[in-house]
Amino acid sequence: EAIVELSGVRKSYGVGTAVEAEVLHGIDLRLEPGEFVALVGPSGSGKSTLLNLIGLLERPTSGTLHIGGRDTTTLDEAELTGLRGRSIGFVFQFHHLLPGFSALENVLMPAIIERGVAGPDDLRRARELLARVGLAEAEHKRPSQLSGGMQQRVAVARALALSPRLILADEPTGNLDTRSANEIFELLLEFNRDTGAACLVVTHDPSLAARCQRRIEIVDGRVAN
Ligand code: ADP
Ligand code: ADP
Repeated sequence: EAIVELSGVRKSYGVGTAVEAEVLHGIDLRLEPGEFVALVGPSGSGKSTLLNLIGLLERPTSGTLHIGGRDTTTLDEAELTGLRGRSIGFVFQFHHLLPGFSALENVLMPAIIERGVAGPDDLRRARELLARVGLAEAEHKRPSQLSGGMQQRVAVARALALSPRLILADEPTGNLDTRSANEIFELLLEFNRDTGAACLVVTHDPSLAARCQRRIEIVDGRVAN
């Protein structure tokens, strides 16, 4: 069973207004469990929009979207939020860490949001993840006390906190120097290998895209390959 399956997905912005515009024109795609796939294509072609739909942050205008076999188009907002929290880890271009909290607290945040409280298992898992991304010593540091690469490593640890089956990353290395970018990419590959989580990564870097098992190219709101 596919972890992600889109069929005839269209997305328009400004529906019912004078500036209505369709940005995705009938997307069909499947992502199998454990796949590591690059999402590539020119700027403005619809990659972020597609990622936001798959991440259940926005809804298709028409078509169907299944996540882990569940038809998401019939779910209400609370059900979407629940499915998103349990199944999907996000990494964005800008880390979106909470500035007033330590690295450890940021990694604990998904558990707190999901369960209302972080228990001993969550704490153990968060520390283990910070160690995996090489930041065991930095758990009490605020984001502002960390370098850009370190901040993004905290963001990766946070994305993995609830052991998602699907990782969505929107130019996770876009803001980083080559060395930090490689480190972040390695972490995603490693998590994919170790847990079998599927990973869909938007990247403009051809050398990173080449390291993915498969590439899906979006051009003008359509799958081009
Ligand atoms: P990419 O990620 O490939 O650069 P985007 O998905 O960000 O492409 O954007 C695709 C098109 O949709 C662009 O023309 C963009 O301006 C438009 N778009 C994206 N988000 C919105 C929005 N919230 N409202 C209106 N238009 C949008
Ligand atoms: P990228 O090219 O890296 O995807 P963008 O600068 O196109 O980033 O978009 C950044 C954010 O702004 C996205 O969340 C997108 O949905 C939103 N956005 C993009 N274009 C528009 C638009 N024309 N109107 C409203 N929101 C937009």
